[in-house]
Formats: sequence, structure tokens, C-alpha cells
Amino acid sequence: MAKTKTEICDRCKKEFKRKWSGGRNDWSQINDIHYWTEGKDWKGYKILCRPCLNYWFEEEGDSFHELVSRKKLPTFYSYRANGTL
Ligand SMILES: [Zn+2]
Repeated sequence: MAKTKTEICDRCKKEFKRKWSGGRNDWSQINDIHYWTEGKDWKGYKILCRPCLNYWFEEEGDSFHELVSRKKLPTFYSYRANGTL
């Protein structure tokens, strides 16, 4: 069974399961805003659940594209395409 830990989303305050990434030997970075923005907060948020990451992309696209690193955009799109997000 995949190792997970419970986190609280900064935006919706709901619990979600963060997955362990065996390849990198660390917790999944997908929920870490600083991973996408290379160090910037979005509205003071640092950790988002997947629905809130999708909300950011779909409903707050201007700030998403302003903050998310150009280098990380293809990764975000591929996660949406393959169902990770
Ligand atoms: Zn959330």
C-alpha cells in the first residue's frame, strides 16, 4: 500500500492524503505551492489539495499564470492530462 500522510489544505481547510514519492524518497511535491512557483505564496497559501490546485488553475488563471514557473507549466498540464490532478 502506498504510504500517505494527512495534511490540511490551506485554502479549503479540508484534510487530504499526501502521497509518498518512492522515486524521490520524499513526500509528493504536487501539493506544495512553492514547488510550482519556485518560492512564492498564492494568497498566503503554501499547501493545496488537488481540487484547490485545479480551482486555482481553472478559476484564478491570471494569478496562476503570474505565479507558476514557466518551467513547471508542462508538468502541471501533464498531471491534469493523466489524471494525477
Ligand atoms: Zn483544498
